[in-house]
Amino acid sequence: MGTTRPNREETPLKSTMQDAQLTIGSVMHHGTRVHADSEVVTATADGTRSRTYDEVGRRAAQLAHGLRDLGIDADQRVATFMWNNVEHLEAYLTVPSMGAVLHTLNIRLFPEQLVYIANHAEDRVVIVDDTLVPLLAKELPRLETVTHVLVAGPAAADADLDALRASGKEVVLYEDVLAERPETFDWPAVDERDGAAMCYTSGTTGNPKGVVYSHRSAWLHSQAVATGNAAGIDFHDRVLPIVPMFHANSWGLAYAAMMTGASLCMPDRFLQAEPLVRFIQASRPTVSGAVPTVWNDVLSYLDGHDGVRLDSLRLILCGGSAVPVSLQRGLQERHDLYVRQAWGMTETSPVASAGLVPIGVDGDDQWAYRGTQGRLLCGVEGRIVGDDGSALPWDGASVGELEVRGPWVTGGYYHRPGDTDTGDSAEKFHDGWLRTGDVGTLDDLGYITLTDRAKDVIKSGGEWISSVSLENALMGHPDVVEAAVVGIPDEKWQERPLATVVVREGASVTPEQLREHLAASFAKWQLPDAWAFIDQVPRTSVGKFDKKVVRQGFAEGRYDVRVVEG
Ligand code: ADP
Repeated sequence: MGTTRPNREETPLKSTMQDAQLTIGSVMHHGTRVHADSEVVTATADGTRSRTYDEVGRRAAQLAHGLRDLGIDADQRVATFMWNNVEHLEAYLTVPSMGAVLHTLNIRLFPEQLVYIANHAEDRVVIVDDTLVPLLAKELPRLETVTHVLVAGPAAADADLDALRASGKEVVLYEDVLAERPETFDWPAVDERDGAAMCYTSGTTGNPKGVVYSHRSAWLHSQAVATGNAAGIDFHDRVLPIVPMFHANSWGLAYAAMMTGASLCMPDRFLQAEPLVRFIQASRPTVSGAVPTVWNDVLSYLDGHDGVRLDSLRLILCGGSAVPVSLQRGLQERHDLYVRQAWGMTETSPVASAGLVPIGVDGDDQWAYRGTQGRLLCGVEGRIVGDDGSALPWDGASVGELEVRGPWVTGGYYHRPGDTDTGDSAEKFHDGWLRTGDVGTLDDLGYITLTDRAKDVIKSGGEWISSVSLENALMGHPDVVEAAVVGIPDEKWQERPLATVVVREGASVTPEQLREHLAASFAKWQLPDAWAFIDQVPRTSVGKFDKKVVRQGFAEGRYDVRVVEG
């Protein structure tokens, strides 16, 4: 890279190819026309409702007319406050295709963060699900730039619209906005590099940071997600995105389905194991994506219900946090469900790597690879960087921070104080690479193994102890439901691991037994000597272990800690 080819002409030979733009509009036109017969099935309280892609295309045009009449005629932000359902898909397609910017609000954010984000993005319109009206109504008066709220969903007319109106904003029913509008729309030409959608990181430290996806980045990312190395989707598939459309694009699965013509199964708010299993049986998805917690619950449910089978599912994409091998084995060996681990972050659209195993690796050997974060997808470059900023070898042993770059990796954050629009902030970028904040190794085949988040690493006597590996091993113990391991101050070793463990109901296990369980795969100095049994591991707004809160809990003496000497 960067070198000039010898004998190069002054003006390089131009391609003869057409300069078609990679836009969400093109995805929508393709999906709703070529795959007009595919469908979106949405879960309801007592069954399902469905719409064909053809209908979705017509309704997208109607929504575009309606939004235009509400003043959306350029790059204004249209926010969604919605579960995964067909109306959310309609917004996903319509808003960027109009040239406006879709802002998916995370319904699980703490109120202060939600208000900050909506004001920071200057959202003009919010589309809200009928069932989420009470949640939005509480914060709506503080959403300064919002002028209109559209209430969607089968029970929208029965929702407490007055609670929303109390904010002084215009409140209309989504279906009224669409009603009697033309089913075609004069979609504008959109530049592929313009903003299509935005998403904020959950901001565990400080205010959330906004990432703006372009049409092009969303297009390329969704194509990569559809390839065989990732979710491997085609139009015979039915895709169930359980990962929320309000969190990192539901991993590109919605657009990947539209691109390939795969049907979509949308779980709406029915995310507990029992209704989810019922929905899977009714809608028969072949591919699904969700964080490990969801599959953990599904596994417990299946283990407890003999004869319940999810035989339509051929591939479960799983990521967002480390996917324990014990979880993957449980699903595969007891229920014939295949899990593939993927890694990524809001800043990487999010999918950057996925864990199909190398050719010829099978049987028990496969688990060494299935526990990794997988191989980088074409389009994402990665490297492991040491403390001195230099790139380390791909040897599976040299540990450092993972850095990535590529066309669907962000190069900055939206309107950060002190930054220009796309300006760098030193702690997140390094010579044009995104610093992921994840620590681990790359092996000679390009498989990433993450051992920690930079802020969670445990350094004991100058050596790193992987909290993630300890947690995975603990969660592999039959009596353990969850475990979070953090570093606590130690006079002699600077830091030592504290294991906080949630024990399965009805089971009883001692720290000594758990240490013995770990001793099979860890050196003695890596074993936690401090133990606390807790009711639940604290979680962030996006459902990840919140180790900051665990460390705080320890510092404030809230845990009953038992020390076990080796
Ligand atoms: P946030 O950073 O706000 O928590 P993201 O959803 O963007 O939200 O989280 C990205 C982070 O999640 C990654 O940097 C990584 O730490 C973690 N993560 C995602 N997938 C995996 C995985 N398969 N294994 C381990 N960690 C993962």
